[in-house]
Amino acid sequence: MRATRQGLPLVDREVQVLALIAKGGSYAEIAVELHLARASVKNYAHSAIKKLGARSQAHAVHLAHLSGILRRERHGDHAGFVAHTRRGEEPCGACWAGEREYRAELRRKRLQEAAGGRLPASEPARGDRDGRGAARPPERRTTPPRDPAA
Ligand SMILES: [Zn+2]
Repeated sequence: MRATRQGLPLVDREVQVLALIAKGGSYAEIAVELHLARASVKNYAHSAIKKLGARSQAHAVHLAHLSGILRRERHGDHAGFVAHTRRGEEPCGACWAGEREYRAELRRKRLQEAAGGRLPASEPARGDRDGRGAARPPERRTTPPRDPAA
């Protein structure tokens, strides 16, 4: 039987493989990351391509992005964390790390609001980090910048 699989929903493994292909992973690298055989990764990739009606791997990644299939595989931030919990899963390490950062940021914002909306000293002004973003006021030229090595 050689029925076309086009239009069938992708299984989790196919979505995971596509998401890692989208990030530039090779079959061998994806196999290590997902604890699968390289041949299995290739099979998942091929069946995902067929189900999406795509003509190539790149086309499949493109279609999966357009249709939002890859969006639920987002990891490492609050959105990824929420996606895990919605699927009834224990969030992965990357999503926990992102969630902790998100919660710390929320706390910081709440403290900031309580302090009257002033930015804490730890937050550098825009452009100061690499010296390119902000134009230096001309009067700064009379006082040379501090030598960080001094
Ligand atoms: Zn995750």
